[in-house]
Amino acid sequence: LPRLPIFEALKKHDATSTAVVHSLSGRTFTYGELVNDIAAAKDKLQRNTNGKGTEGERIAFLVENGYDYVVTLLSILAAHAIAVPLSPAFPAHELRYILDQSESLVLLSSEKFQEKADEVLKEGMETSPINYKQDKIMLGKTDDYVTLEDPTSDKGGMMLYTSGTTSRPKGVVLPQAVLTAQSMSLLEAWEYSSKDVLLHVLPLHHIHGTVNALLTPLFAGSIIEFQFPFNATAVWERLAAPFLPNPDPSKKPITFLTVVPTIYTRLLSTHSTLTPELQTATKTALNPSNMRLNISGSAALPTPVKSAWTELSGGNVLLERYGMTEVGMALSCGLSFADRIDGSVGWPLPSVQVRLADLETGEIIKDEEQNASSTTSNPTEVLGQIQLRGPTIFKEYWKNPSATAKEFVEGEDGQGKWFKTGDVAIRRVVPGAGKSTQPWAKGPAYFILGRQSSDILKTGGEKVSALEIEREMLSLPQVSEVAVVGLASEAWGQKVAAVVVLSEMGRTAGKGGKAWSGLDMRRALKELLVSYKIPQELKIVESIRRNAMGKVDKKSLVREVWGEEVG
Ligand code: ATP
Ligand code: MG
Repeated sequence: LPRLPIFEALKKHDATSTAVVHSLSGRTFTYGELVNDIAAAKDKLQRNTNGKGTEGERIAFLVENGYDYVVTLLSILAAHAIAVPLSPAFPAHELRYILDQSESLVLLSSEKFQEKADEVLKEGMETSPINYKQDKIMLGKTDDYVTLEDPTSDKGGMMLYTSGTTSRPKGVVLPQAVLTAQSMSLLEAWEYSSKDVLLHVLPLHHIHGTVNALLTPLFAGSIIEFQFPFNATAVWERLAAPFLPNPDPSKKPITFLTVVPTIYTRLLSTHSTLTPELQTATKTALNPSNMRLNISGSAALPTPVKSAWTELSGGNVLLERYGMTEVGMALSCGLSFADRIDGSVGWPLPSVQVRLADLETGEIIKDEEQNASSTTSNPTEVLGQIQLRGPTIFKEYWKNPSATAKEFVEGEDGQGKWFKTGDVAIRRVVPGAGKSTQPWAKGPAYFILGRQSSDILKTGGEKVSALEIEREMLSLPQVSEVAVVGLASEAWGQKVAAVVVLSEMGRTAGKGGKAWSGLDMRRALKELLVSYKIPQELKIVESIRRNAMGKVDKKSLVREVWGEEVG
């Protein structure tokens, strides 16, 4: 596969084919327009930065999801600057923090966010409104495109901030070569092509929305249709459009959807509220014969959500993958349905090297070794912290050399450093799986147990995974949401505790039609979990706060519910 900076790759696509669609207005933009507009915007950017030069400079931007976002991001890359995408959903002080932390040269904002930009900016910063459609420089036919950069250039890149689930968001520096490597790895694994039409409903300041759902399909020449902010009914209506009795010929069938588990949950819970006609059409839309790929990630996928989706779609089993801002995607289930194992994130993606390190000693666990600290006595599995290496791994935490140094460890083979993810996994031989034609999806599969800092609990000498308990609890139809945490306990070291949101059913499942109690829940869990994994404390709440990517900050949750620190 070609290793080109994204802008060079775009020029190789058929200039007349569609690149971007605005779902609600129906506006479309071709790859030819995109290339022209990026070149023009790059020019304008370089002129507007007053000769300060853009190479290596951080350029922050506040632009709504859609064509202008794509042009802005790629023009910054083409100018060899570092793009810092901001979320308009953030309050001004959070944006200010990112602007200051990243030492951005300039903040670009679209007209829509001018006020927000003004609010964020203080003296000394410049704001530059952009409106490409009014100020467009036409470059002519595809053949006349000027080459703006050396195709092998590794200059410029993107800086994304982590989701801030465990602490203040960290600025992660992803040079263009890393972005290309991440995209090429996904392109090979998930086989994006110019036939794909991807519905984009994610925020664009995280790796999931930016690399998986934007850069990679652009590399492949796919169509990206933006619909934002996410609205379950609007998504269903769009998916149904080509399959209604009177289909809209301008709406192509969507072939690709990659979102977070909470979005699948919301889609599923909304489906029954649709008209019968829409219900039928959406089922046709999701059928594997029309919908090529449905991917879930960024947080653990509850098994009931996965099964419900399989049933609704007539067999379109969700493909789960694991990744993080620092590394892009690292592990993924395979394209073959047999390789989408429940609870597993599959195998190391192409060009990603994975190893597991002992949780206490940091020693590397060999494939065949039975690890004494394994949560089960299954001899075909090992447990440890995930470490990663390869061209897809980030370069550094911005202006944080001590954090960067702490998270990398030298390899004994002299082949480069490994990144310590902080996440814990089991590697297990799964009979019948890992036999696909995809060469990378082979061997033992990985199962994520969660973050070592907050999800691996030690109770009475046993090591338990909060994610594993959450998965079991979510299989109870009375439970809608759950977060399992460890609380400090003199007797146990840590005791397992859970914060639960009841489902509709759970609200009337107790004695005399009352809500299910903690006692009811513990009784039901006896069937599912060994006694030491059953939460000793259960708090039933109305809702659990999650960030934009559907993740729970467990430290804050414990503080909120119990008024103490995580044990
Ligand atoms: P911060 O680093 O600021 O605390 P964060 O780690 O949540 O935030 P991201 O980089 O967006 O920020 O998220 C990466 C994390 O998401 C991973 O380290 C992992 O814990 C979790 N994750 C991603 N995919 C999955 C998955 N399929 N199953 C379980 N956890 C996942
Ligand atoms: Mg993190």
